Amino acid sequence: MTRTVYVNGEYLAEDQATVSIFDRGFLMGDAVYEVCAVLEGRLVDTPGHFARLRRSMTALSMPETLDNDELLHVHQELVRRNALREGLVYLQLSRGVADRDFAYPGSETPPTLVLFTQAKAVIDSPLAHRGAHVITQPDLRWGRRDIKTVQLLYPSMAKMAARAAGADDAWLVENGLVTEGSSSNAFIVTRDGRLVTRELSSDILHGITRAAVLRLARDVGLVIEERAFTPEEACMAQEAFMTSATSMVTAVVSIDGQALGDGRPGAVAARLRTLYIEESLRQAE
Ligand code: PLP
Repeated sequence: MTRTVYVNGEYLAEDQATVSIFDRGFLMGDAVYEVCAVLEGRLVDTPGHFARLRRSMTALSMPETLDNDELLHVHQELVRRNALREGLVYLQLSRGVADRDFAYPGSETPPTLVLFTQAKAVIDSPLAHRGAHVITQPDLRWGRRDIKTVQLLYPSMAKMAARAAGADDAWLVENGLVTEGSSSNAFIVTRDGRLVTRELSSDILHGITRAAVLRLARDVGLVIEERAFTPEEACMAQEAFMTSATSMVTAVVSIDGQALGDGRPGAVAARLRTLYIEESLRQAE
């Protein structure tokens, strides 16, 4: 089936949709994005994703776009038109089309807004069943990782390094401390049961799933420490997992070839995954 996508106010067949070669997203990586999960044909946590989109736009002085009600409508309309049951909606907002220049164009330049759907097994994900093998890689990204920009080349390189090493993904390390995954937030569970994840700063993306999982973990009485941890501490942990919109909570079963716990997805990760999926199914819209 040909997908229907959204470009600047129009719903188009994917092979009819175009963006200018002068678009600053294409030329300068001058664009921000969001990914919302879709479960049972409904969208998960759009308020969180839309709020972060606004924060990214503000940080980059990007011109206004649709309001949240309009954005939700476009998301829902794409899900409906594509009869999507499970997967994601990707949104990208660039600063628009202008002559190539490092300086931003004037605020009269309209932004480019593109959305599309992608089918994906979210709940019944094979990786979540078996658990992910990760390797560590140096974190060579820029210093504003709290802004969700499309500058994803280094995370792609880290992911390819993981593949080349026979692993699934990479956890990034800076100054001897884990920042986050290539496209996820990183958590460990210590041998005495404390849940540890790096504190919020410009060093990491402020994951929407991270926030929800921390809230759920608090609700069930887990002790939480928001602090940085080393790869060595992670290798000694009872469990580890990563969070993102479409991987939800995915257990990590080895780090740099060292198995965690009994080498299978851990109980805390499994419980938080279940709680998060249940809550998402209840609240999706
Ligand atoms: N960290 C990075 C670098 C990411 O790219 C992502 C998601 O794409 C996340 C964390 C998780 O964010 P969220 O839970 O909002 O999907």
